[in-house]
Amino acid sequence: MEQPKDLNCLVETLLAFYKERDWEKFHSPKNLVMNLASETGELLDHFRWLTEEESYKLGPETRQEVSDEIADVFQSILALAEKLGIDPIQATYHKLKKLEKKYPKMPC
Ligand SMILES: [Mg+2]
Repeated sequence: MEQPKDLNCLVETLLAFYKERDWEKFHSPKNLVMNLASETGELLDHFRWLTEEESYKLGPETRQEVSDEIADVFQSILALAEKLGIDPIQATYHKLKKLEKKYPKMPC
């Protein structure tokens, strides 16, 4: 498998991976959201009980595990967005526009 060059290629690669394993039957929006919450918990677990300072200084093994969990979370959110027909780039842009109105820049 080659590294995808952009987000669309990554989603296509994910979908092909799921199809080859017949995992699509498990991928209802409800199941994908539960998977996202589960993977987020796995990511969170690496930081539980760490001090603020310790959370910046992960050892190489923990850093790799955190990287893997970030990938799991990202994969889960991409699969959910695809299933619901939501473009995550467009959705994030629109959300930022809302936040920009809600929290305008401080006047100089
Ligand atoms: Mg995981």
